[in-house]
Amino acid sequence: MELDPDELAQASERLEGARAEEILAWTFERFEGLRIGLSSAFGAEGCVLIHLARRLAPTVPVYTIDTGYLFAESVALREAYRAMGADIRVVEPLISIRTQAERHGPDLFARDPDACCEMRKVEPMRRILTLVDVWVTAVRRDQSTTRAHTPVVGTAERPDGSRVVKVAPMARWSRSDTWQYIFDHALPYNRLLDEGYASIGCEPCTRPGGVEGEERSGRWVGQAKTECGIHHL
Ligand code: SF4
Repeated sequence: MELDPDELAQASERLEGARAEEILAWTFERFEGLRIGLSSAFGAEGCVLIHLARRLAPTVPVYTIDTGYLFAESVALREAYRAMGADIRVVEPLISIRTQAERHGPDLFARDPDACCEMRKVEPMRRILTLVDVWVTAVRRDQSTTRAHTPVVGTAERPDGSRVVKVAPMARWSRSDTWQYIFDHALPYNRLLDEGYASIGCEPCTRPGGVEGEERSGRWVGQAKTECGIHHL
């Protein structure tokens, strides 16, 4: 698909004040016939995005990465959304945790989390980008300073240098907007979020905690790392 950067920039500006439902409606209409896919790790905002998107496009695929290090609660939540009818497509790393340990030593996450994330999250995300033309993500600007400038419509790069459209319908949503929607629609969510976790990733790299504006601060505690890297593609 040929992308016109000017058109995308104009759309992003025009949709800046639009509701998430309107941004999704524009996405499904503008890119009709192309491969549109959501990605989600089943955080609170991901649950909202799946619900919002499936109201417009019930069969839209939801890609999710199973690093092998997920909490049991996260896997159970994923399966709950599958049971609700969502087309959940699980993508796994190319190598198992065991093979990774044989090649790079045990507990790579503690010694070189960037390398671990590259193998277990970023590489699978690159493969997902070869399966879609339009990537819809639940990123919110208020999750962290690193996400504060997320455009509503942007692009991400595939391994071959081509680009996909990247849409963030919830970019302007707050944490409280997200929870209001979850409660209003009685959506299933990760029970760990009731137990002091504000953001949930892989079990070895996630701790309870996280504050307003930096809710990902319970991730990679004690390390400079704040992002796994998939949103830098
Ligand atoms: Fe590895 Fe931790 Fe990254 Fe998960 S979050 S892929 S365990 S470094």
